[in-house]
Amino acid sequence: ITESEQAVLDEIEANDVDFLRLQFTDILGTVKNVSVPARQAEKAFAEGIYFDGSSIEGFVRIQESDMRLVPDPDTFAILPWRQKEDSAAARMICDVYDTSSGEPFEGDPRRVLQNAIDRAHEMGYTVNAAPEPEFFLFEEDEEGRATTKTGDHGGYFDLAPKDLASDVRRDIIYGLEDMGFEIEASHHEVARGQHEINFEYDDALTTADNVATFRTVVRAIAAQHDQHATFMPKPIPKINGSGMHTHLSLFTEAGENAFHDEDAEFNLSETARSFLAGILEHAPAITAIANPTVNSYKRLVPGYEAPVYVAWSDRNRSALIRRPAARVPAASRVELRSPDPSCNPYLAIAVMIHAGLEGIEKDLECPDPVRENIYEFDEQKREEYGIETLPSNLGQAVEALEEDEVITEALGDHVASKFVEAKSQEFEEYLVDVSEWELDRYLETF
Ligand code: GLU
Ligand code: MG
Ligand code: MG
Repeated sequence: ITESEQAVLDEIEANDVDFLRLQFTDILGTVKNVSVPARQAEKAFAEGIYFDGSSIEGFVRIQESDMRLVPDPDTFAILPWRQKEDSAAARMICDVYDTSSGEPFEGDPRRVLQNAIDRAHEMGYTVNAAPEPEFFLFEEDEEGRATTKTGDHGGYFDLAPKDLASDVRRDIIYGLEDMGFEIEASHHEVARGQHEINFEYDDALTTADNVATFRTVVRAIAAQHDQHATFMPKPIPKINGSGMHTHLSLFTEAGENAFHDEDAEFNLSETARSFLAGILEHAPAITAIANPTVNSYKRLVPGYEAPVYVAWSDRNRSALIRRPAARVPAASRVELRSPDPSCNPYLAIAVMIHAGLEGIEKDLECPDPVRENIYEFDEQKREEYGIETLPSNLGQAVEALEEDEVITEALGDHVASKFVEAKSQEFEEYLVDVSEWELDRYLETF
């Protein structure tokens, strides 16, 4: 038994933890739990916990359905909203193993991310990532179901008394802190009912774990206030949607930021420029993973601070990639603005890393930054600048994914094929549906 495993056993004892939730995510990014009595922790570390994987979305074929969960002791956390006087529940995030081969299961999103991190290591880098998840807080109706009503009329950085949801947000932040998050900032976003909470950057795996945890905590604590927190990208038309901008940087083994070059333009090193070029090159396929719902594409439209065009900028927010101002060299990074919080964070961060590393390996040439507001460009001007457009719906994005070998290889055969299958089906269903908008528009007209 390792030191960190022993530390977990001690915590379980000290806090009277009676149940352990062993967590992992499916391909679509939904957190799954297997609950075991806490006294099984030692056994879980030693041999893992067996479960039937055939009931998990896109996980395995029925005939090879036995999986084993091995908890990562570093992810142990007491669930603050389940704490009682004489008992508590805790969770650990797990790696999934295939029982027949004994190997890490290739359909485990955490494994897909680990592979990307391993590739970076082989090239001499560690990857840091920080997300900026946005979400809406909505009221529940009498039956406890989510509405799109919000009692709050705040705007960007507004404070009380307008910001009625600030109590809820404060409790969410306490909950996150209880679970070990370092909260950097939180603010009311541009739209009515919209919020953002930023937490400290970390290595890529921890950050992906954190996003999965973040969504769970935010929803659970909002629910205690009879509010529904949603990470749906565009719940209300014609106002800002919710993004999850993702900041990335590479550090060398010597602990230096490989993206920083004191003498270069924008202080962006050659490494950073090639990494950025790699992401631009694979942007359409990345979109399928980073914007995986039909609704994601209602956010990626001009005019609401979400990206539409494949370009980068050192200043404006209409570009896909922004190079944020960095106060110190260690903070030099690139910010991808397309991801939304409905994505699977493990897969999204994995494909961004692979695309960037591919850019470094191939020594891709980085285009010039675009400093004007691209929303205001017409087609001709975009052509002149060589600016492509992101896929405009889920179907197009999935097609781009299927055509991009770097990104499908990054996902591995299993995840790529299951993902494409699930998302093609989702898009087909959407295409044949008749929406509220159509009924409003046509039912009485024709
Ligand atoms: N809500 C905007 C989006 O959809 C981002 C606003 C901001 O820059 O924080 O990406
Ligand atoms: Mg924001
Ligand atoms: Mg941002």
